[in-house]
Amino acid sequence: MKIVLASHNKKKINELRVLLSEYSERLGEITVLSMEDVGLYDEVEETGTTFAENALIKAKAGAESGFIAIADDSGLAVDALNGAPGVYSARFAGEPCDDDKNNALLLKKLEDVPDEKRTGRYVSSIACVFPDGRVLMTEDSCEGIILRAPRGNGGFGYDPYFYFEDFNKTFAELTLEEKNSISHRAKAFRKFAESFVKTWETYYAEQ
Ligand code: IMP
Repeated sequence: MKIVLASHNKKKINELRVLLSEYSERLGEITVLSMEDVGLYDEVEETGTTFAENALIKAKAGAESGFIAIADDSGLAVDALNGAPGVYSARFAGEPCDDDKNNALLLKKLEDVPDEKRTGRYVSSIACVFPDGRVLMTEDSCEGIILRAPRGNGGFGYDPYFYFEDFNKTFAELTLEEKNSISHRAKAFRKFAESFVKTWETYYAEQ
C-alpha cells in the first residue's frame, strides 16, 4: 500500500513513519511517500482555526496525488496564554518558521508566569483522506509544563522546554521510542490506526 504523509516536516514524517510501521503486519507492505515524492511541492496554506481543520486541509491536499493521504496538524496550547500558540505554533514568531525564535517568544511571554501556572499540552489532530473521498479524523493530547531553560537535544519545536512529569524529562530528552510511547501524535495516531485498518480493509475489498 502506498500512503502519502502530507507534511514537509521531516522529523514529524519520521515519527509518523515509525508509528505506521507498527501496523505493517495488518496492512501489508507500506510505502510511505512524501509530498515531494508525489510532485506536490507547494506549502499548503493552513487557513483553519482548529488543528482538525488544518489537518483535513493538508490531508485533502495530499490526496490530490491519488493515494491515501494522512496528515497531522499539531501544536502547543499553553494555559497561561489562553491556548496560544495553538494553531500558530509553527509560525508563532512569524515566517519563515524558526524553532529558536518561537521558543524565545514563548519564554518571553511566560516570563512573569509562576512555575505552577506554566501548564499546557501538545495537541495532535490526524486526518486521513482516501482517494474515494472517505475521511477519518482523530485528536489527542499530552500534558506538560513549560520550563524556563532548555534540556536535551532531541525532538523538534518546543521539545527542549516541554517537561513531561511521568518520565522526569523534557520531550527533547526522550528517545524516539519513548516519545512514541506517550506523545500527543502517538496517542492520536494509535486511536486513528484502529479505524484506519478497518476502513482500509473495506476499501481494498471494493477495489
Ligand atoms: P504543523 O506542522 O503545522 O502541524 O505545526 C506543528 C508545530 O507545532 C511545530 O512546528 C512545532 O512548533 C509544534 N509541535 C507540534 N508537535 C510537536 C512536537 O512533537 N514537538 C515539538 N513541537 C511540536
